[in-house]
Amino acid sequence: MATEVLESAKTGAKGVNMFSAAADRVKEEQLMPDERKFRGGPLNVVHAYWLAGMSCDGCSVSAVGATAPPVEDLLMGVIPGVPKVVLHHPVLSIEAGHHFVRNFEMAEKNELGAPYVVIMEGSVADERIAAKTGGYWVALGAEKIDENRSRPIPTAEWLKRLAPGAAAVIAIGTCATWGGIPSATGNPTGSMSVMDFLGKDYRSSYGLPVINIPGCPPIGDNFTETVAAVLLFLQGIGPLPEFDDLGRPAWLFNDTVHTKCVRGGFYEEGQFAKNYGDRECLVEVGCWGPVVQCNITSRGFINHVGGCMNTGGICIGCTMPSFPDGFTPFYKKPPGANISSAGSKVLGGFMRPLRRITMKFMNREARWTDERHIPSGWGHGEKPGAVSQMLHQVYVRYQGLGSKRKWRPK
Ligand code: SF4
Repeated sequence: MATEVLESAKTGAKGVNMFSAAADRVKEEQLMPDERKFRGGPLNVVHAYWLAGMSCDGCSVSAVGATAPPVEDLLMGVIPGVPKVVLHHPVLSIEAGHHFVRNFEMAEKNELGAPYVVIMEGSVADERIAAKTGGYWVALGAEKIDENRSRPIPTAEWLKRLAPGAAAVIAIGTCATWGGIPSATGNPTGSMSVMDFLGKDYRSSYGLPVINIPGCPPIGDNFTETVAAVLLFLQGIGPLPEFDDLGRPAWLFNDTVHTKCVRGGFYEEGQFAKNYGDRECLVEVGCWGPVVQCNITSRGFINHVGGCMNTGGICIGCTMPSFPDGFTPFYKKPPGANISSAGSKVLGGFMRPLRRITMKFMNREARWTDERHIPSGWGHGEKPGAVSQMLHQVYVRYQGLGSKRKWRPK
């Protein structure tokens, strides 16, 4: 995919999806003469403007917990080829008040002398609703209306001002990527995703649609790794990272939670937890893992540790566009599980006993033919009975079907 996008970026040919179509814009005539439309690299510094909409700040907490790469490495510019990131974050920045907001104004006026990316955490509220009563939902800074009055600048307005000149707009977390909890049924604030807010025609100054890194909260490493990959692309060193049709990093979100779940073997053998805390597959107590695209089971949460199913939790689908409404009521067996787990029980009920018999044979060393030939204190496991031996022989024959393997355990 990345190859196709780069190819279309070179030739101007129509691409295969919105990302390749976006790359179509990276053509010679579009890169000049506007300073904002820069050629890839060399870049020493890239500014990152962090906007917080309808959010709980969980995405910020996740991002600062990332370890591969850590945020610190991005800020110090110690990753080879990746430009140093200058972060403007409403909580983490040292500057405050007007000194902080001034940085945003400079980006809008193209006074930075360096490219910038916009990172949005939280969904975008419909400020027209709040304005009806003279209020606002979320704001950052204020600007003067006249001598005596000023008005708060809604975050949504900042997004609208900064997005056209940004080298890339990255939506972090499910609220920003799809709308998330603030846009659940009812939605009094009219909340929506960044890509819905900016519209289908939005492209960054470098021709990219919104990049989406979902999760509630997202895995910090998914964010920093994607940022590093995008910065390498902007630097002109790396290829355009592969994104799927929803703008997600494809290498992170192509597979389901279930594909690499530590409990997948239990599912396959038809063994299901009845209570939380049981070690088996959690589908019958509410896990949606088989249909949810997320890498939490393979990546863990922080530093490859933790993660929902790894620590006994179910998957509630927090990375998916239909979250939360599509996955409620939480902690109830998903509708499709009746069919799929019944199938696993039938197949697993047949396979599991056969595997246990083979396991029993495999737990005996070749010389341990009977009790007299077991010199250690171990290996006194029960000798397989006649029925087990017969089933084992049948199973061994079955294993040998279509195989050139000659070896047969005793
Ligand atoms: Fe799949 Fe969930 Fe069971 Fe893991 S716990 S094997 S993700 S259904």
